[in-house]
Amino acid sequence: MRSKLFGSSGVRGLVNVDLTPILAAKIGLAVATFSKAKKTIVARDTRVSGLMLENALVSGLLAGGANVDCLGVVPTPVLAWLTKRLNADAGIMITASHNPPQYNGIKIFNRDSMAYGEESQNKIESIIEHENFRLANWRNVGEASFIDESHLYVEMVQKTAKLSKKWRVIVDPGCGATYNLAPLIFESLGCKVTAINAQPDGFFPGRSPEPNVESLKPLAKIVQELGADVGVAHDGDGDRVAFVDEKGDLADFDRILAAYAAYVAKKNHGGPIVTNVEASMCVERMVEKHGGKVIRTKVGDVYVAEAIKRFNAVFGGEPCGAWIHPQIHYCPDGILSSMLLLEALEYENKILSEFISETPQYQTLRGNVACKNEMKYGVVKKAVEGLKSVFPEYKQFSTVDGVRLTFEEGWILVRASGTEPLIRLTVEGESLKAAKEIMEKAVVLVKKLVGEMRK
Ligand code: MG
Repeated sequence: MRSKLFGSSGVRGLVNVDLTPILAAKIGLAVATFSKAKKTIVARDTRVSGLMLENALVSGLLAGGANVDCLGVVPTPVLAWLTKRLNADAGIMITASHNPPQYNGIKIFNRDSMAYGEESQNKIESIIEHENFRLANWRNVGEASFIDESHLYVEMVQKTAKLSKKWRVIVDPGCGATYNLAPLIFESLGCKVTAINAQPDGFFPGRSPEPNVESLKPLAKIVQELGADVGVAHDGDGDRVAFVDEKGDLADFDRILAAYAAYVAKKNHGGPIVTNVEASMCVERMVEKHGGKVIRTKVGDVYVAEAIKRFNAVFGGEPCGAWIHPQIHYCPDGILSSMLLLEALEYENKILSEFISETPQYQTLRGNVACKNEMKYGVVKKAVEGLKSVFPEYKQFSTVDGVRLTFEEGWILVRASGTEPLIRLTVEGESLKAAKEIMEKAVVLVKKLVGEMRK
């Protein structure tokens, strides 16, 4: 049973509607109660509500007897990596990732820098629901302090990725949490860097915190006009990365994931690669060429990270640009991914468009149908039988996450969004015409089911 508070990426919601300081304090107290933490670290992205929620969260942790080191504004992967590096019992990030500015969220990492999975999330939720808090005796209330240890992360990336070429890079942190570290690390690796949207601003005035074709148009234009080698963009909290090639085209998220996964498989002489049910079938085509095997999980970096650990995979990632490098840690890491991609280009002696061009291109369509959070799982459940009757020609059927039907030349996936009040539909086909036909039929079905649930 999915918990009510936690989605696929921690607690997420509208500020002061779903996610209030009262809830943040309860989460802090619940984490202290559950993990019996002595040492915790807390960080936030650039959102306007970040400090308000941080103060409440820290208050809860202190009340539960945990000491708290506040890192201020740093990317999620930096918080996650430092949790292990600084021997903290838990690391907590205040972020709504790529969501619009009126949202915020709380994501919890354990001492191994793994995000809390369903089991731990359910325990936190149960403590909050039953108010089973363990309040510390007045003598044992925690202490809070401010620390800046991001230089440790910078040193780790410098040791991990070695670049010999002087890359011309345009970096677009989108006014999010990578605003200072992303340009700084590229420069420290010898790149010639131009940064745009590199001022921290929780209103995200430059572009949406979600990197996509629309929001990255200005970046693409600048890459082209300045004749740069590559453009790099991150989401609001820096666990995702998007690339623009030297021609000024946004690199297709699925194809670049597949190309990089193939490179890792090649270097490791195979090895499992993990991706989610939404990713393109081009991932299998590329990874299997190098003797690798692809494992598919539910959508959500927590599930990908768990599978990487369980199957001892060499790499894992989702087509949203969340790539996990298990040789370093289990949190998707946008900055590290960008450096490792440049290293891959040097290794293969290719420019970005060449690197991607070997990956086959299929037609992927993504659509959304609005649906209230409390109804979305019910709609998907109903869609199981609905889809089977709309598409009687299906070959395979899976409910790893939502409903996935495989056809001769493609597949469809219908699932509830883990973070937003939406039903997400993904279709992939060898031709656009076939993909469109499947999508149209499925949207009609899902809209009908949403309408029936409302009655
Ligand atoms: Mg994110």
